[in-house]
Amino acid sequence: MAAAGPTALVTGPQLRECHGCGLFQIVPAMAANMRSDCERCGTPLRATRADPTGHCLALTFASLVLFAVLWLSMLMKVSTAGIVHETGLLSGPAELVRHGLWPLAIAVAFTTALAPLGKFAGTLYVLVGLRMKTLPPNLRGVFLISRKLGTWSMLEVLLLGVFVAYTKLGDLVTIELGAAVYALGILTVVIVWAELALDPQAVWEQIERRGQTHAPMPAVAPMEYRPGAAGCENCHLVCMPADYDGKCPRCGSIVHERKPDAIGRTIALVVAGAILYIPANVYPVLTVIQLGSGSPSTIMGGVEELVSSKMYPLALLVFFASVLVPLFKLLGLAAMISTTSLANTAEGAGILLRQRTRLYFIVAWIGRWSMVDIFMESLLGALVQFGSAVTIDPGDGAMAFCAVVIVTIFAAEAFDPRLMWDAAARNAHRPSRPTGTTALAFNSGQRQSSA
Ligand SMILES: [Zn+2]
Ligand SMILES: [Zn+2]
Repeated sequence: MAAAGPTALVTGPQLRECHGCGLFQIVPAMAANMRSDCERCGTPLRATRADPTGHCLALTFASLVLFAVLWLSMLMKVSTAGIVHETGLLSGPAELVRHGLWPLAIAVAFTTALAPLGKFAGTLYVLVGLRMKTLPPNLRGVFLISRKLGTWSMLEVLLLGVFVAYTKLGDLVTIELGAAVYALGILTVVIVWAELALDPQAVWEQIERRGQTHAPMPAVAPMEYRPGAAGCENCHLVCMPADYDGKCPRCGSIVHERKPDAIGRTIALVVAGAILYIPANVYPVLTVIQLGSGSPSTIMGGVEELVSSKMYPLALLVFFASVLVPLFKLLGLAAMISTTSLANTAEGAGILLRQRTRLYFIVAWIGRWSMVDIFMESLLGALVQFGSAVTIDPGDGAMAFCAVVIVTIFAAEAFDPRLMWDAAARNAHRPSRPTGTTALAFNSGQRQSSA
């Protein structure tokens, strides 16, 4: 790709609030394929693209086609004792319903079928809509929802689940991969590519230019902080929410200076997650019955079985995703809460702020990977139903485990990392936010990303 010249700017300078530390700063005008990071905490503020929507449009269309193949064709075929079983995308949830584990069925169906479908269809609607002479209705709402669904679309985790299930089944039954597995493999690459090719802020700018905003926008974008200003979490516009009923004038989502009751809600969710972590590890997640004998196994039991059958890398993967990741999330969030809410007494509120902000974003991202165990159990349950020869049934522990994953994802979402910076500023007796129309530092954290 040819490097853009220094004059080929694709954005103008903009006032932005960093969602990692709450610093208001001017993101300078940028050329294509550049990234600007917060100068205080390093959180990415904007990544520009040469074609901010076109590549993503093509890739989203490809995703939708691959997703249709994934939905309609066979995922895996297993056979033993002359009986053949096939499974597709929705056989797992259907089997879970048959076992009375319908909350688990809903979670699996939502994260592997409905959320991805909604995300692809919504993104396509918006990107095609923006190219039309007359805009179709409500691009704003559809884009908001499709971005939200992205958090819950876990096809890349499902791919890992298929891999784990395939390896585990190898010595139990004869197994064959279907077209859907290959579609899923390519789809995972295309999804990551599409996400990298999209500049969501450019989409919001186009929606703004085409006049489909929630409220009439101020003629001149503010370039200086005013008390009461806040950065919209969804479209990143800095606005005065008090002037618009607490909403962002551009995308219409509710804007807060800080997430409301962040500490209280995070504590409640972390406690709930920690309590659920006990049944998730005590109750069986899977029961394998081969020729009339067998016993239920817990998450750790499953890891031990993998170790005893010498599948060390797989054992490590399951141990990491199912045992360490939830624990890491709970402990990480607990540490972030304690350094924030005890800041008035603790000396350490200002220590490792950048690292703790980075930790927050890792905790928020990593939780989804714990679903690998749930997807694997759902696939095994659907595949291995061979009467008296061999059956695999998901157990109640899986339900508790899935609840841990979902509750900790919500906990990470409820927490506001900016509070850690507020606490540090309080401790140092200096304001964390500018107090007047102070001149803002010009962001210098800009760099060329690998194009
Ligand atoms: Zn920052
Ligand atoms: Zn907004």
